[in-house]
Amino acid sequence: MRQRVAVLGSTGSIGRQTVEILGAHPELFETICLTACSNWQLLAQQARALEPDSVVIACKEFWEPLQEALSDLPVKVFAGEDAVAAAGAAGNVDVTVNALVGYSGLLPTVRAIEAGKKVALANKESLVVAGELVMRLAHLHRVPVVPIDSEHSAILQCLVGESSPLRRVILTASGGALRDVPLPELRSVSAAQALAHPNWSMGPKITIDSATLVNKGFEVVEAHWLFRLPPEKIDVLLHPQSVIHSMVEFEDGALKAQLGLPDMHVPISYALSFPERLSTPCPPFPWADFPSLTFSEVDQIRYPALGLTRDCLLAGGTALCTLNAANEVAVADFLAGRIGFLDIVETIRRTLDRAENIPNPSLEDYIHCNTESRKIAQL
Ligand code: NDP
Ligand code: MG
Repeated sequence: MRQRVAVLGSTGSIGRQTVEILGAHPELFETICLTACSNWQLLAQQARALEPDSVVIACKEFWEPLQEALSDLPVKVFAGEDAVAAAGAAGNVDVTVNALVGYSGLLPTVRAIEAGKKVALANKESLVVAGELVMRLAHLHRVPVVPIDSEHSAILQCLVGESSPLRRVILTASGGALRDVPLPELRSVSAAQALAHPNWSMGPKITIDSATLVNKGFEVVEAHWLFRLPPEKIDVLLHPQSVIHSMVEFEDGALKAQLGLPDMHVPISYALSFPERLSTPCPPFPWADFPSLTFSEVDQIRYPALGLTRDCLLAGGTALCTLNAANEVAVADFLAGRIGFLDIVETIRRTLDRAENIPNPSLEDYIHCNTESRKIAQL
């Protein structure tokens, strides 16, 4: 039977690649719903190609042109952020791909899990902000949360068939666009420089998060919740070629790694087809292009965000919700040219110092913390 799929954030980097995979395998997938924030033109094109039951545009002012563009098709058109969350929880959906960016992904993840949907999760911020709550709900509703993030997909692939305890997992990090920029010059780098990622083509927010290594801090948190590992068993290693997507070290000293070109089609396909594999257009691996794979420890002076994220994970409560909110505000400010690159981490530190940390948070506490932390970060 075909899997019935909702893609939240179908117009983004992950969303577009997901749409390609769904279009390439109509025998396996039926597209139920696609959603976007404001890009109604691309959403309309995608709807024409995949003929979903419905589409949702989060920004309500674009409902009218979208509705008009699709008036000759039997596609229902909805608008608003609540409708995005409802789309992933609809009765006729089997799997919800959450490819939303940032905090906006949290409620849709929660609603999909509560409705018993398998979640293919690209939106790592769901787990960063409220990992304890999300995984508790997933356990309660017996719902699989399958990672799309390449590192976590790699770990999942390494763990298939294994039941013995792990010594540790090793997340690989490219080091981002600014890895070779001399430290004194980091203060004055432009958004364009920070957006020029050497290995991966991704949305703007995660590309900046890669340059600060906030992204790798988020991935430590993601690994903690997905694989139930204590933070000290999650290491990070710089690996500039991005060929090894991550590794697992077992208690006998054996290491398993998953390798491949940096191409998100592979982990997206795996999340959709797990534990099977799909064919993708990814070419055979060009070994001659990679005569050496190199590794080094993370420089904590260049990348202070990694340590900050680990501290927040240990602190618990709403600390990571605050960190995420401050980071979202700061990244938007940096991309708009209002602050410098190093101010991103400074904004995070300042916000963490001032925000209240609420212990044992409920969903409402996370919502409150997100709003308040944004206000502090914007000061
Ligand atoms: P993009 O910015 O490219 O896409 C985001 C998508 O979400 C778009 O469809 C956008 O719509 C929509 N969207 C944005 N804001 C809202 C909102 N407030 N309400 C509803 N919809 C919204 O992001 P990416 O695809 O790069 O990243 C998505 C997630 O996947 C992130 O959590 C990221 O960390 C994670 N990820 C991404 C990877 C990548 O290769 N890109 C790799 C690993 C993880 P519109 O187009 O209309 O603006
Ligand atoms: Mg990743």
